[in-house]
Amino acid sequence: MKSIKEIYKIGKGPSSSHTMGPERAAKLIKAEYPQADSFEVILYGSLAKTGKGHMTDEAILKTLEPCPVQITFCEEAGFELPHPNTMDLTAFQGEKELGHLRVLSVGGGDIVVEGRPEVASPDIYKARTFTEIALYCKSHMIRLSDYVEMVEGPEIWNYLMEVWKVMQQAVMQGISTTGILPGGLEVERKAQFLFQQSHIDERPETHENRIICAYAFAVSEQNASCGTIVTAPTCGACGVLPAVLKYMQEKKGFSDKQVLKALAVAGLIGNLIKTNASISGAECGCQAEIGTACSMASAALAEIFGMGIDQIEYAAEMAMEHTLGLTCDPICGLVQIPCIERNAVAAMRAINALSLANFLSGTRKISFDLVVKTMYETGRDLSHQYRETSEGGLAKLYQ
Ligand code: SF4
Repeated sequence: MKSIKEIYKIGKGPSSSHTMGPERAAKLIKAEYPQADSFEVILYGSLAKTGKGHMTDEAILKTLEPCPVQITFCEEAGFELPHPNTMDLTAFQGEKELGHLRVLSVGGGDIVVEGRPEVASPDIYKARTFTEIALYCKSHMIRLSDYVEMVEGPEIWNYLMEVWKVMQQAVMQGISTTGILPGGLEVERKAQFLFQQSHIDERPETHENRIICAYAFAVSEQNASCGTIVTAPTCGACGVLPAVLKYMQEKKGFSDKQVLKALAVAGLIGNLIKTNASISGAECGCQAEIGTACSMASAALAEIFGMGIDQIEYAAEMAMEHTLGLTCDPICGLVQIPCIERNAVAAMRAINALSLANFLSGTRKISFDLVVKTMYETGRDLSHQYRETSEGGLAKLYQ
C-alpha cells in the first residue's frame, strides 16, 4: 500500500476524479511536450457524462492555457473503456501531432497512463489487509497510529498538521460564506444558516447534530465552489472527516496531536479501501466515496476516544456496511445534490457507528476486510446509471 498522503490531497474542488485527475493529466502532457502550441482532449465515460457539471473542461483549459484546447465530451466511445474515467490527450505543434496519452483518472486525484507502469508513489506498507495490520499491532502492543508512524516516518505528522490546518480553514471559510453555488442549479449555501440556528431549548444532541452538519456543509460547499479542500478520501466526500474532528476537538478539548493520530488511523482505513476496493464514485458508486469517508470518520473518532483496535475496526466496518449499495446520481453532474447533504448525514452516521461499536464491542461477525470486499463487488454490480454518469436516480427524475 502507498502512503496515506495519497488519501489526503490538498487541492481545489469540486471533484478529485473529474478535476484533480484531469488537471494532473493536462500537466503531464504539457510537461512531456513543452513545444506544443495546441492540444486536443477527448473525455469518455463518466468524464464525458458529468464533466461539464464537475468543471472538468475548466480544469483542463486552465492548466493548458494559453494554448488553445479542443475538448470533446464523447459519451459513446465505440470501444470498451479501460476505466469509467478515461481521457485521450494529444499535443500538436502547428499541424504536426507530437504525441498522445490515454489517461485513466482512477479516483482520489490519481491517474494511470495506459501502457506505462504506474508513476504514482511507491508501496511503503507491506500489509494489505486490516487483519494483518491488527495482528502486527497487537503482537507488538502498539496502536494503529504508532504503526502509521513506524511505516511512514515521523515526518508524517508535519504532513497531517498541514492537512488539519486546511481542513479547519475550509470549515471556517464555509460557515462565513453565503450565496448561491456555481453551476446553474441555484443551490444556496446553508452552512452559516445551520451554524446560527440555535434555539433556547435546543437539546445537547440536537446541538451536536446541527453543528456537525454545519461543518460538513461548510467544507462541501467550499468544494462545490472550487475552494481549497483536502480529499478525505475524495473531493465529493471531503466534508465528513473534518466535521466530526473539528466538532469533537472543540467539545472535548482534544489536542492537535490527538487529532493528527485520528487522521493517521482514518488515512489507514481509506488506504485499505482504496487498495482492496475503490474510492471512485464512477467505479463503485457513492458507497466508495461517502461510505469510505464515513468509515474513516468513525475510525478516527474511535481512535481519538482511545478505543482499542477491535473497536476501531468495528466502527469502520459498521460505517461502511450500512452505506453498501449507495448510488452516485449527482443532479446535472454537479457535486451538490445529493453530495453536500450526504456529507452531513454521513458525519452523523459516523458518530452512530462509533456509539454502537462502543456498546456492542465483542459481538461483531463481519470483519472490516470482508465489508470492503463486499463494497467492491456491490459497486461492480451497480448499473452504470448509478456510477457518476448522472443518467439515473435523482439526476434522471429531478425536473
Ligand atoms: S453522489 Fe457521492 S460519489 Fe457521486 S459525486 Fe456526489 S459525493 Fe461523489
